[in-house]
Amino acid sequence: MGNKPFHYCIPSSMLSELKSTKCVQCEFNISKDDIIAVGIRKIPDSENCTLYIEYICSQCEYREIILNRKGRYSPNELCYILLEEMREKRNIERSMQNRSKPKGKMTNKEISEFLKFLEGTSSHEDFLKYIGFNSTGHDQTEPQDPPSKDNES
Ligand SMILES: [Zn+2]
Repeated sequence: MGNKPFHYCIPSSMLSELKSTKCVQCEFNISKDDIIAVGIRKIPDSENCTLYIEYICSQCEYREIILNRKGRYSPNELCYILLEEMREKRNIERSMQNRSKPKGKMTNKEISEFLKFLEGTSSHEDFLKYIGFNSTGHDQTEPQDPPSKDNES
């Protein structure tokens, strides 16, 4: 997978909250690269917890914590939320990697075998059998024999 930046594991809902954050001391815009911690924090006078991120302003080095205002969960739930976030990001990455590979296309070998078969037959029924359609209506589960390979070198 390679090394990911620290903010990779932080839920996107929290990152979007950070986007509108300015340093309380110098009003410099905080970026996700300024994050130095992410964790679970107990809400005072409550059994619930919330996610937090801690950042250091890149301008004046002021340290601050942002609590996720939307979320009040049990510690277990918050751990799941973080894991789900990672899984979702991995799934997205995987599907982007797979996009370059063509799916459901015939290979060159399959195409040349199919063309060879077409040359050797004039029967419509044989053609239907070849593509897996059994016109006689029985033995549908039995795999069809591949076309003859006798004339292969
Ligand atoms: Zn600052």
